[in-house]
Amino acid sequence: MTVHDISTMKSGSIEQKISRARNLWANHGERLSVLPEVSLLLNRYREELSESRRLMDELGLVALCSTCSSEVDIGGCCGSGIEDWYDEILLLLNLMLDVDIPERRFDRRVCLFLGPEGCRIWARYHFCVNYLCPGIIASLEPRDLALLRAQSGKELFLCWELENRLKQELV
Ligand code: SF4
Repeated sequence: MTVHDISTMKSGSIEQKISRARNLWANHGERLSVLPEVSLLLNRYREELSESRRLMDELGLVALCSTCSSEVDIGGCCGSGIEDWYDEILLLLNLMLDVDIPERRFDRRVCLFLGPEGCRIWARYHFCVNYLCPGIIASLEPRDLALLRAQSGKELFLCWELENRLKQELV
């Protein structure tokens, strides 16, 4: 992969980006996964992702978002087109986490990655991790909101470190 290729990671349709991510995974996945630094970061990232999901569940947000997106505001926070903000490195990261990237939209109004029970990918774009709708903010105590923000920060920092490391290896 060249510097030019890196600069085009955000270009093209989501289908093209998913295809490029799958090619990167097929051609470089094994080598990347066993690099000590990548492997360490990946394990830490997996732990923080699990903790983020556990915290969201504990705070009632999984149920709140699921009900809202299926009954109240279909495609609201996770509307069609948001998937276009993803690039192939973030998609590759999902493949490295053993996430099967969805290629079929379950409703034309929603993001390609949204499923009936919420987001179907693990490594998410910063907007997806950081965005909290007014309903969520109103439902949380200030202490819980601070906990959630802090956890999102840990998740995003590791994601950023991994993305940078993968780009270095692929240039
Ligand atoms: S990637 Fe996930 S969280 Fe982000 S908009 Fe799509 S379904 Fe929602």
